[in-house]
Amino acid sequence: MSPTDTAASQALTSQQVVDLTRQYNYGTWRFQRNWNPMHIADAEGCYLIDGSGKRYLDFSSQLMCSNLGHKNQAVIDAIAHQAQQLSYAMPGYATTARAELSQLLAEILPKGLRKFFFTTSGTEANEAAFKIARMYTGKSKIIARYRSYHGSTIGSIAATGDPRRWAMEPGGKGPGVIFAPEVNCYKCPIRHTYPGCNIACADYIEHMIRNESDVAAVLVEPIVGTNGVLVPPDEYMPKLRRICDENGVLLIADEVMTGWGRTGEWFAMNHWSVIPDILVTAKGITSAYVPLGLCATSEKIAEFFQDHFFSHGHTYEAHPITLAPAVACIHEMQRLNLVERARELAPYVEAKLNDLKSKHRSIGDVRGKGLFWAVDMVKDRTTKEPFNTYADKVSGKSLVVDQIAAKMLADGVTIQAWVSHFVIAPPLIVTKEEIDRGIATLDKHLTIADEA
Ligand code: PLP
Repeated sequence: MSPTDTAASQALTSQQVVDLTRQYNYGTWRFQRNWNPMHIADAEGCYLIDGSGKRYLDFSSQLMCSNLGHKNQAVIDAIAHQAQQLSYAMPGYATTARAELSQLLAEILPKGLRKFFFTTSGTEANEAAFKIARMYTGKSKIIARYRSYHGSTIGSIAATGDPRRWAMEPGGKGPGVIFAPEVNCYKCPIRHTYPGCNIACADYIEHMIRNESDVAAVLVEPIVGTNGVLVPPDEYMPKLRRICDENGVLLIADEVMTGWGRTGEWFAMNHWSVIPDILVTAKGITSAYVPLGLCATSEKIAEFFQDHFFSHGHTYEAHPITLAPAVACIHEMQRLNLVERARELAPYVEAKLNDLKSKHRSIGDVRGKGLFWAVDMVKDRTTKEPFNTYADKVSGKSLVVDQIAAKMLADGVTIQAWVSHFVIAPPLIVTKEEIDRGIATLDKHLTIADEA
């Protein structure tokens, strides 16, 4: 057992920790039978430390959320201080933590997003956004896109356009969500080629709005996260903003994964100077030290609720112990210039990944922004056929990317392997040497795919 593990857990061996976890908990998005969770006893900076003391470079910031890295003392102090000061007050009260974070958010969020609803997850923040959009517009439909992920509850999974949704239908089918084609220039679903297409996938959304009527909002991940780090062409978001404005529809940006410096801007929408009507975020807002989600709305929406009933709320909404560390986290990101750092390291990562692509025929595409990249794996570069699909995953087949990730883990690097691609998204404090090590470890094991 790691010497730094907590005193309270000293009585348990690593094997007992694993066994008890497996015995009494569900492993998510997987079959239970072969779940063998690793005991994480400690973590610092960009590293996780297992029960035997072995260190792992975290090359995807866990679930793309540990942006600041582990054991940041200022954040730890903020949690401890808040716990001593005021551990809970119901959401109807004002608290110092809430006031301080709100003031900071008003400075950092895209201009005009000025009224906040705090949750404890990205999923709940999306649920809030959908309800607010429906209350504000009096309309019911949400246009989401294929290859998007917005959460795992009934409402948010219904708005999710990725295969995790199909796996649970019909329960996953929520009312009022319709899907538009994703923006995916590598594998365009409508067989167009950029720039000749003139962003036809955005025009199709306008076609949907006009034909459907009753559309409250268009919901987008500005850069699609788990489903492939899909970066839209620069014209896409401004065009979507115009379409929404001209048709009286709200634009919701789900920045749960792309917010907080991940893409080299505080928020991905900043890349295109587009301000959504509602911005949803979580993960990096506290670098996952504590669970916090945020649904931020525009002034016009805020104004509407002056005289309309705001019919939403949670017991743990605006929980002080979730808010105080967010303030510390944002200050630490500013002190360490982490947004600029992600932007500056992007060309370095891109060049390294392109080198990797030139060596391995199993890589079809590399793409990303800031410290948020996908390595898209294909059987054949001409057909772009992936090695696996989600259907393989839910049928229990061994996935090529999982085989590679397992080898990398044995070599001390953790990476998110998502069906047919890897997500490279280290903590924003990562060094060039650590980037080199992570990519070299991927390089070493890509032969599994090259030879598959
Ligand atoms: N939206 C996006 C874009 C996400 O990537 C995620 C989680 O990965 C969610 C929503 C759901 O957030 P949470 O897991 O905090 O509920």
